[in-house]
Amino acid sequence: MTRPSGMPGRDCPRCPRLVAFRKAWREREPDWFNAPVDSFGSPDARLLIVGLAPGLRGANRTGRPFTGDYAGDLLYATLKDFGFARGDYRASADDGLELVDCRITNAVRCVPPENKPMPAEIATCRDFLAATVKEMPQLAAVLALGRIAHETFVVAGGGRRSQYPFGHGRTHALGALTLFDSYHCSRYNTNTGVLTPKMFRDVIGQARKALDAAKA
Ligand code: SF4
Repeated sequence: MTRPSGMPGRDCPRCPRLVAFRKAWREREPDWFNAPVDSFGSPDARLLIVGLAPGLRGANRTGRPFTGDYAGDLLYATLKDFGFARGDYRASADDGLELVDCRITNAVRCVPPENKPMPAEIATCRDFLAATVKEMPQLAAVLALGRIAHETFVVAGGGRRSQYPFGHGRTHALGALTLFDSYHCSRYNTNTGVLTPKMFRDVIGQARKALDAAKA
């Protein structure tokens, strides 16, 4: 099999359960995106943010990561505050929002039922994550949103999960890269107080500081 680029085709056939779910939603909502969601932002960015998977009514509907559901409200507002985004976020892929030195992708590119990808799907889509990382020549920092994003990124880079345990606010050195961990900025996590906006700001602020220091 040829090595995949960082972007799967619209009809990527690799995960049968997700293909069936995608097909069902194409029939139900033909105006939605309903396809693997591409990364957002330039491959020349130094920061890569890795989320879990497209939300059904978020990225799966709009076609842009974290766009159209609550997680995007918190993520993009915080990125703007730290200079990683500019423009107005209006929950639509054509709102003109730009990322600055930052790129956003997902561990799994197709929407999973109940927002829960299976381990085999995470492993299968990891090829696209690894290819995404490879196409970023200036990558210096990665922000993993949640344990699944953290672990699949570690494995994609050839590391062992046990060597790099996930923890909110932790940082890890992976070769030349610094990996920052945060709980996922989902509505569930913020509603239950697992992640407060301040906790999230603190992690993104750490990434900002590290990148600014590297530039100086
Ligand atoms: S999740 Fe990834 S590997 Fe699986 S079908 Fe979608 S794009 Fe292909």
